[in-house]
Amino acid sequence: MSQPADATFETRLHPPKLDVRACGSCTLCCRLPEIDHFAKPANTWCPNCTAGRGCSIYADRPQLCRDFLCAWMINESLGPEWEPSVANMMVYGQGQQITVLVDPDYPTAWKTEPYATQLNDWAFEARRKGGYIIVFVGDDVFKINPS
Ligand code: SF4
Ligand code: SF4
Repeated sequence: MSQPADATFETRLHPPKLDVRACGSCTLCCRLPEIDHFAKPANTWCPNCTAGRGCSIYADRPQLCRDFLCAWMINESLGPEWEPSVANMMVYGQGQQITVLVDPDYPTAWKTEPYATQLNDWAFEARRKGGYIIVFVGDDVFKINPS
């Protein structure tokens, strides 16, 4: 069921997990974020990840990996274009911050459509509640200033 049009941004980013979505062959969250638990810098592979195949310790992966779901996995309002392996970026919420991690192999992905317009709209909506969007691209960090 789609979220109502007037649902708040926060509500739309944190609805219950969707049963219809699965990570498939996506492994972006095993590569793009910094993960202290593994002393893993951003944009490097987790040593337990096999590219295109996934986690080699899946049954025994740590709780932080079990708990993490990107926005596409839990938010039905994000269309198929936002599947991380399609968008070449992953989105997740951290309190008032919406974080966008862009695959450095596709550094301009977030500036292309339909992503640029959607991110601007999200930033506009988030700002009304004191929120904001930060985009990480390799070593570069951008705050989206909605127009
Ligand atoms: S980025 Fe999202 S879709 Fe991709 S592996 Fe992580 S949780 Fe799954
Ligand atoms: S332990 Fe597995 S699920 Fe967790 S980041 Fe590494 S490869 Fe991904």
